[in-house]
Amino acid sequence: MQPITKSNWIEGKVLEHINWTETLASIKIDAKVKPYVSGQFTRIALEINNEIISRPYSYVSSPLDNFLEIVYVKIPNGILTPKLGKLKPGDKILVNNNSYGYFVMNEVPEGDNLWMIGTGTGSGVFISLLKTEEPWKRFNKIILIHGVRKENELTYQDQIKKFNLKYPHKFIYIKSVTREKIKGCLNIRIPNGINNGKLESISNTKISKSSQFMLCGNPDMIKETISCLNNKGIEINRKSKLGNITIEKYW
Ligand code: NAP
Repeated sequence: MQPITKSNWIEGKVLEHINWTETLASIKIDAKVKPYVSGQFTRIALEINNEIISRPYSYVSSPLDNFLEIVYVKIPNGILTPKLGKLKPGDKILVNNNSYGYFVMNEVPEGDNLWMIGTGTGSGVFISLLKTEEPWKRFNKIILIHGVRKENELTYQDQIKKFNLKYPHKFIYIKSVTREKIKGCLNIRIPNGINNGKLESISNTKISKSSQFMLCGNPDMIKETISCLNNKGIEINRKSKLGNITIEKYW
């Protein structure tokens, strides 16, 4: 990782600020940063009391978009996000010129099907990846699973509809809302959905070593999902030994 110095910051302009819920929002930004790859993250910052305060965020946008986009949770007593929440179109925002991370298609080994499993804001990085051709070219079926607490946290439904229209025979989208009963949504945590066979039956796809799994979001969900997959003989992908699980923890 490259060091973050003042010269790494690019001043961007807010294009659009979308409030999904009171605590969940996304920002579209115009900033000329160095090229990035879908699946990577950057750092977003504001100058607060003469100090650059930054936090890492995955891109929801893809390199094919002519804007940058991130999705974030407003932390009520946080330093940065309450100020981010006040930004309006035209306001200045700092974006790190560099992008980071290995949650990218190049790091995912070959497989028949690709399971993209995310909770909360963790689905955003999958939107970025799915906006590119690569996952669609490489995998027969892509199963996107999004787990959230409340229905209004099911972000990017319009974009997901576009994937459905473009790849009707390849794409399966499963949503689970854990703290409300919503028609058309599961009401279980993802590891439970693996253990009780629900995710396999809905997607009509066997969870096996012939698939690849990308996990992103809540670290406890990731830990428990890895353990469920391990029980089925599916292991983390490592440089030293190819496997089937690629992960990105969000906090
Ligand atoms: P979250 O608590 O991660 O919940 C999202 C989904 O994950 C819910 O369906 C939840 O189920 C499920 N989940 C939680 N623990 C799980 C586990 N061990 N195994 C399987 N599923 C699990 O919600 P969030 O809105 O993304 O974030 C919540 C908290 O994290 C907030 O306090 C937020 O400030 C903080 N936070 C979030 C981010 C972010 O990027 N999302 C970043 C920093 C801090 P249940 O409803 O059953 O719990």
